[in-house]
Amino acid sequence: MAAEDSRILSRAPAPDDAPFERALRPRSFDEYVGQHQAVGSLRVSVQAAQQRGECVDHVLLYGPPGLGKTTLAGIIANEMGTNLVTTSGPAIERGGDLVGLLSNLAEKDVFFIDEIHRLPRIVEELLYPAMEDFAVNFVMEKGMHARSIKHRLAPFTLVGATTRPGMLSAPLRERFGIFHHLDFYSDDELTQIVTRSATILEARIESAGAREISRRSRGTPRIVNRLLRRVRDYAQVKADGVISEAVARDALQREGVDARGLDKLDRRFLDAIIDIYGGGPVGIDAVAATINDDTETLSEIVEPYLLKIGFIAREPRGRRATREAYAHLGKQPPAAPVAGQGTLFDR
Ligand code: ADP
Repeated sequence: MAAEDSRILSRAPAPDDAPFERALRPRSFDEYVGQHQAVGSLRVSVQAAQQRGECVDHVLLYGPPGLGKTTLAGIIANEMGTNLVTTSGPAIERGGDLVGLLSNLAEKDVFFIDEIHRLPRIVEELLYPAMEDFAVNFVMEKGMHARSIKHRLAPFTLVGATTRPGMLSAPLRERFGIFHHLDFYSDDELTQIVTRSATILEARIESAGAREISRRSRGTPRIVNRLLRRVRDYAQVKADGVISEAVARDALQREGVDARGLDKLDRRFLDAIIDIYGGGPVGIDAVAATINDDTETLSEIVEPYLLKIGFIAREPRGRRATREAYAHLGKQPPAAPVAGQGTLFDR
């Protein structure tokens, strides 16, 4: 993940994001921009649970990083007047870790597990009875004295987040009552988010400046907030602190973020498909090897947005670059479709 870690456009939280993310994170459904379908339905779930005096059904959220899954879990807890406890799949190594976390939950607390598809199998199996009966079974002692003890838990809501719903086992998936897919945000929604964030950070921003940052943020709130901080620094040093369209453009160009929000890694990925593999189709592993990056980063972090904006298309035999990608990179697409690739530029 080396290249991804150092990217300004990284969709994963960077260590210095934490204090800013806390300050900028919406705390109620009203403050949460976009994702209307998920928000509308979660509002109803929360209200119904409150009326019945119960906890909200377990929720599975899926979608790329940085789109607001943790934020939604926090909002559910806030609206229920309870606590949010967060962890992640890879952080829970042993069954005992999970039992410890679950035992400390108070009634109706929200327990958030990020990257839930990466829970170790043995931990996942402990989670089943916890989700279903609010109880965990563990085995005391060994050999012929071994006995299984049932430990009751306070009723809680599990919010699981995943970038890869397909990697969740069926028994785990079936134990969630509520599913929502979070999609990339529109430019208008990102403009609202960046304008709100600028107000909180007391940065002066013009509406054209807000739009420019939004356009380059790959549909992702975490990125729009991160780019805002970079542009704010630049504006402070170079432009009396005012974030205008030109200031935003210059600052982000310097950071290697182009007009469509692509950075060096995206361009290397597209360049490899086009220059080395004739535009594709090519398997993701081959591209990863060519540009010396890992397949997971490319398929979870780089590809989803390129697919979304139609710069690449996924086919049974691999990925191919579209006409839009050639145009964006200023490259000449092949004159005629290669035999057997009749659909090359049909989109
Ligand atoms: P995820 O858990 O999906 O990786 P987060 O919930 O941590 O994403 O969101 C990253 C940051 O983006 C948050 O700190 C928050 O400031 C911002 N954010 C996310 N979704 C929204 C939204 N709908 N409205 C406003 N800000 C948002």
